Amino acid sequence: MYNIVLFGPPGAGKGTQSEKLIEKYGLTHLSTGDLFRKHLGEGTKLGQLAKKYMNEGRLVPDEVVIGMVEDKINETKNATGFIFDGFPRTTAQAEALDEMLSQHNLKINGMIALDVPEDVLRVRIQERGKTSNRVDDQDDVKISTRIKVYLEETLPVADYYAAQNKLQKINGVGEIAQIFKDITSVIDSY
Ligand code: ADP
Repeated sequence: MYNIVLFGPPGAGKGTQSEKLIEKYGLTHLSTGDLFRKHLGEGTKLGQLAKKYMNEGRLVPDEVVIGMVEDKINETKNATGFIFDGFPRTTAQAEALDEMLSQHNLKINGMIALDVPEDVLRVRIQERGKTSNRVDDQDDVKISTRIKVYLEETLPVADYYAAQNKLQKINGVGEIAQIFKDITSVIDSY
């Protein structure tokens, strides 16, 4: 049973690699971005609350995100482990995650951080914006906000896991298959 945090800036390829990891290891994918988009699409109260933050590329408040993740963990029975994608995005979220997992006698095995330079991220997000229907992918100002929020609020989460000796960095530029191979060798070393 592995619990893995897949980490990286917007456009790093977390979603792409998660799909392949789920298939190989039978893990449960917990993407907070996907969960929020589902709520948005269904027009739930949570979706309406999250909408204004998401559309501007800002973070949804911690307590909202943490509550949603807690529900998801509690309702997942017989989980073989989780891939956390897009979460934790603040140090407060990382602390809350450790707390939630310890209540189930679980822990994070490690954080795998995809390293991708900013100019490559911008090109990838703009490309995705042509087909993704995501408001936050379609405008340079919103893309810049997301990168800025990542650098200021999310990057410290890597230090949180580094302090526990749980951080592994992977080069996120190159062939998808090669990146996947590099990720699996980290996981297989847990
Ligand atoms: P990205 O492509 O930027 O990695 P995601 O799909 O992970 O995007 O998330 C989209 C948006 O959903 C974020 O910009 C943010 O508004 C909101 N969101 C997702 N996860 C979190 C989180 N853990 N904390 C706060 N907001 C979040």
